[in-house]
Amino acid sequence: MTPAFDVVVLGYGPVGHVMAALMAQAGWRVGVFARQAGLYPLPRIGHLNHEVMRVLQAVGIAAAFEKDACVCRTYDWVNAAGQVLIHFDWDKPEITGWSPHYLFYQPDMDVLLAGEVERHSNVQVLRGWECRSAVEAGHTVTLECHAGSGEVRRLTTRFLIGADGANSFTRSAAGIAWTDLGFQADWLIVDYRPHDPDSDIPMPEAGQICDPARPTSLFRRIGHKHCRWEFMLLPGEMREEMERPERIWALLSPWVKPEDGILVRQAVYTFRSGLASTWRCGSMLLVGDAAHLMPPFLGQGMGSGFRDALNLAWKLDLVLRTDAADTLLDTYEEERKPHVAAIIEQAVALGRVVCVSGPAEAALRDAALLSGDVPPPPPFPTVSGRLFAQHDELAGTLAPQSVVRVGTAEGMFDDVMGRGWKILTFDAVLARRLQGTTESRQNR
Ligand SMILES: Cc1cc2nc3c(=O)[nH]c(=O)nc-3n(C[C@H](O)[C@H](O)[C@H](O)COP(=O)(O)OP(=O)(O)OC[C@H]3O[C@@H](n4cnc5c(N)ncnc54)[C@H](O)[C@@H]3O)c2cc1C
Repeated sequence: MTPAFDVVVLGYGPVGHVMAALMAQAGWRVGVFARQAGLYPLPRIGHLNHEVMRVLQAVGIAAAFEKDACVCRTYDWVNAAGQVLIHFDWDKPEITGWSPHYLFYQPDMDVLLAGEVERHSNVQVLRGWECRSAVEAGHTVTLECHAGSGEVRRLTTRFLIGADGANSFTRSAAGIAWTDLGFQADWLIVDYRPHDPDSDIPMPEAGQICDPARPTSLFRRIGHKHCRWEFMLLPGEMREEMERPERIWALLSPWVKPEDGILVRQAVYTFRSGLASTWRCGSMLLVGDAAHLMPPFLGQGMGSGFRDALNLAWKLDLVLRTDAADTLLDTYEEERKPHVAAIIEQAVALGRVVCVSGPAEAALRDAALLSGDVPPPPPFPTVSGRLFAQHDELAGTLAPQSVVRVGTAEGMFDDVMGRGWKILTFDAVLARRLQGTTESRQNR
């Protein structure tokens, strides 16, 4: 029997949205099950970089996203005395054609992503539904989903994509093990909206205060109307106490007062790191936090999930559309896992610099970083491995993007050239020969 869906995306966080959008754009029958009835209500994502913008460009919302976001040019890590320990200079143009780093208010992005997914008639989004059973037999997964009203639905899908976050149901259903990579720290996150959106709050555009008395992250603006503070909980401090408004206003007192604006969202999170042992079990695959988890000091958790979705979407499309062997899907983990493992390592290393609450340990850290003997943070990881050309310094690095003209069309390269494989060459003879090969294949 034909499954009800080609792809079910379980979970409707940002990675589930991107996965669903890409599969919908490719024309597949997509089902989305979202446990929450509405958009994610707590403060979380606030940053993405130029590479992740290119994923939003592929989804078709980058230009609208850019209007709501603000560009971030510097990120400074200072000690309790205000001395700069680490300086990130982000005021350089990037190879992808986008600004290097953006700060944004997550609900703005969520609305754009949902709008893109839900404009497709081949997508069915079921909000307020939780999946409680997933069983694979004969290349089909049978799901049992429950609504808050008590209604239960059983349905089938060719592929189940687990975009269901850190406590992934799909991961458990597929029997996939989880490795805890050992990082753990509790942080209070606060989103604040000033009454005057132009008010100049005395804080850096993005920074970390590595003060052992209260490690703090701050962002002068996420988007145009909101500000963000993040405070590490100290030993003995309790979540319920830290989330009380009076406690939060006391923490914010060096910068703002209650009469200046409102607390929009606040929550204590436990930052962790971990990796799923495998990302595929037959027709069930994991993306996003279901597959990997990192503390947010690099702002790369969601970005890594977006890369997963982009990588997996074209492979799923090819397997569904042609007779491509489904072992192609095994290359998804092979390409993505080492890359994300390297990013987790960097995020944890940065976390270990900031999450220090002992004065003696902080003094040693400060002395080491101020001495200049500590090497600067390593460059952002590229992709490598068996699938990439060896001994070629460009293999696995980002392809550049700029404004191009092709015939009468002019615009960003990805928009003008569209989806799918492209071969770029300066060799006109080779180009003609390749074009001839493609045409003769098509005529066969
Ligand atoms: C404080 C904080 C700040 C962060 N800042 C950044 C940042 O600036 N940049 C960045 O790139 N990353 C950041 N991250 C990481 C980012 O939040 C995650 O990487 C991202 O949300 C992962 O997206 P996801 O879609 O994989 O999972 P999630 O966002 O967790 O979404 C999973 C969804 O699945 C649903 N679900 C779960 N189980 C079921 C089920 N059985 N049935 C139906 N639905 C189900 C859940 O309700 C949820 O909606 C931050 C994280 C935190 C905690």
